[in-house]
Amino acid sequence: MKIADILSYFDAWAPPSLAEDYDNVGLLVGKKDAPVSKVLISLDATEEVVAEAESLGCELIVSHHPILFRGLKRLNGQNYVARTVESAIRKNIGLLAVHTNLDAVHTGVNRKMAERLNLGNLQILRKAKSKLLQLTFFVPSENRAAVLNAVHDAGAGQIGHYSQCGFFSEGTGQFFPDAEANPKLGIRGRLETVQESRVEVILPVHLKGKVLQALQEHHPYEEVPYFFHLLENEWQDAGAGMLGELPDALEKEDFIRLVKQQFGLQMVRFTKTAGREIRKVALCGGSGFFLLGDALSAGADAFLTADIKYHEFFDAEGRLLLMDLGHFESEQFTSELIFEKMSIDFPNIAVLLSKTKTNPVFYA
Ligand SMILES: [Zn+2]
Repeated sequence: MKIADILSYFDAWAPPSLAEDYDNVGLLVGKKDAPVSKVLISLDATEEVVAEAESLGCELIVSHHPILFRGLKRLNGQNYVARTVESAIRKNIGLLAVHTNLDAVHTGVNRKMAERLNLGNLQILRKAKSKLLQLTFFVPSENRAAVLNAVHDAGAGQIGHYSQCGFFSEGTGQFFPDAEANPKLGIRGRLETVQESRVEVILPVHLKGKVLQALQEHHPYEEVPYFFHLLENEWQDAGAGMLGELPDALEKEDFIRLVKQQFGLQMVRFTKTAGREIRKVALCGGSGFFLLGDALSAGADAFLTADIKYHEFFDAEGRLLLMDLGHFESEQFTSELIFEKMSIDFPNIAVLLSKTKTNPVFYA
């Protein structure tokens, strides 16, 4: 097993193309071809976590937050970022971050939070836009099924709970192979017409390379006729925040008690509401206040996130219960999520959950 194998695993689960522009995800320290037998999972990669990884013999740390975020101009131990990176390099430990790309997928950070509250009817709060492509290609009708199967196998044609989606229509294609062509059908120097299918499928942007490769490998023509269109459609499987429903509506006080209990909170900050019951819940791990408008227009009774500033609490205007769980607290189950999934998917390496408490905030 190499670091590259872990990288391609996350490319499939939490594609880096879904990360925010400001983010810095992927392999931040280390080499792709380095071997891995033990991986340590943590919310943050700190000096303490690097030391823990060394003591456990781990060659790689997978963290949610990227230690390298704002850029680093020198490595002389000047701050905790430099010291963490220096220590990882010296100890030959790779650092891999899956941050806003893991926030964006529907099986990521927010799903885990929603599960803690037993929310049902889950959907992405602000669905990603411009992350879907339409692929149109032309293929001899007799090869249509085989080629369509191949692009489906590569991940195209998945819409919500429906797979193998596609549309095709029949028609006639024509081409004129020149003297250097090597046509599968027809002969050089003669206009050819063929009974063809026009096939249309959709796919997420990050699968473009894989789907195109499958198309080209399975299509009989020397030159495959195809084109891609970027779609404005929302992608229901990715985006920011999550929306769900409690099994039963709760009084505000009972809901707050449930949140405190499920997230192990000593205290929580929240706004005044007009005493309505809580059933529809919006949430976003980490700094998710930018989604307040989405939570309101989705009709959420409560919106749970973190890093809310004083004046931002005013913005709720009593229209929903706005709650600040604390950044670490809201995302504390993220490392568990990665740990649980990797433990199942990588039975041949040791996947360990960090015991280091990285939260820099204390309450008294
Ligand atoms: Zn965070």
